[in-house]
Amino acid sequence: MKKFDPATSLENVHELGAHNGVNQAINDSATFAFETGEDMTACFNGESEGAFLYSRHWNPTNFGLSKALAAMEGTEAAWVTGSGMAAITNAILQLCNAGDHIVATRTSYGGTFAFMKNWLPKYNITVTFVNTCDLEEVESAMQENTKIIYTESIDNPMLEVADIPALAKISKAHNTKLMVDNTFSPMIISPAQLGADIIVYSMTKFINGKNDTTAGAICACTDFINSLIDLNDGTSMLLGGVLDTYRSANIHKNLYTLAIRMKQHSKNAMDLAHKFESIGIQASYPGLPSHPQHELMKSIMNEEYGFGGMIAIDMGTPERASKFMALMQKEGVGYLAVSLGYFRTLFSNSGKSTSSEVPEEDQKKMGLSPGLVRYSVGLDNDMEASFAKIKKCYNMI
Ligand code: PLP
Repeated sequence: MKKFDPATSLENVHELGAHNGVNQAINDSATFAFETGEDMTACFNGESEGAFLYSRHWNPTNFGLSKALAAMEGTEAAWVTGSGMAAITNAILQLCNAGDHIVATRTSYGGTFAFMKNWLPKYNITVTFVNTCDLEEVESAMQENTKIIYTESIDNPMLEVADIPALAKISKAHNTKLMVDNTFSPMIISPAQLGADIIVYSMTKFINGKNDTTAGAICACTDFINSLIDLNDGTSMLLGGVLDTYRSANIHKNLYTLAIRMKQHSKNAMDLAHKFESIGIQASYPGLPSHPQHELMKSIMNEEYGFGGMIAIDMGTPERASKFMALMQKEGVGYLAVSLGYFRTLFSNSGKSTSSEVPEEDQKKMGLSPGLVRYSVGLDNDMEASFAKIKKCYNMI
């Protein structure tokens, strides 16, 4: 059987927009008219296939983008949100009631960690944080009331790679859902093909690639997506985290360059990792044989897209990291900014920024060095020149 390829699957979705426009039209309406009151009632009762009711529920623009995302992931359906956090929180709250339990990776994006640690307990949903690379630890954390195993395919900021097939096995044995945040590795890893049930994205990052908006996505089976937008108890419908159609149309267009962008991000990050190694700096990068999950990554990735655009080095202390980053920005390496997946290189000191929600003692436990500098490597055409600048800054510290 031919291996699943996300880009080819995406290319198989080819629908013209209104008036045969090659791009999907932006639907600029919050509400949609019906011929008769009966037609409207039928729509409220979920009996009118293809009819649109109200934009917080569905609209044609978001429907088009969702179809494309589902094709890319190989899931039955998808839904798009106004941020990655909206996708993550909506999907979790749809699955969990008060009294339920989640087994989650200890090394997630700081916002996800804070939501699970500080927010969910207010509603009596408890979370056990584990090292999802340690399958025995995952297994022993499972409880009768566990509803979700939550992980990131390549995690933020440690760049550990999750063994999705093994986690899926544990999840199935316990009748729970495996939820995977694939923000760092769209196209590179296809979690649904490896057994994950729900895939969440911050589309703010690589998928959109322009850093001009926040957005998110949930990819899953049709039943789950429909449950999210159920008029009576759908979390997305009732909490209202829908994506705006103007942004949706832009992201849809950018999705079709994602494959070539991911290849270039990966190529440049691999190049940078080797260049760091050549001057005796240990880089954390899943593409290097020194990375603890290098072999695992090779066994689960869609090879042609490479090992991703995220790489980290340890500057020892936040002070050294700060000085180094300021110099790199001045030198034109990129920007001292959070976020990732942008066409320019971005760098930040994770412990003091995107993981600052994680208490210092937890950072220590997960092995997060206070001097860790995380790079989201851009689409630079000349990495030789970019590295010359980085090296110059490094030598000034
Ligand atoms: N997931 C990961 C891995 C992230 O890095 C982030 C943000 O940095 C998010 C989720 C949250 O996404 P957003 O900022 O779009 O809400």
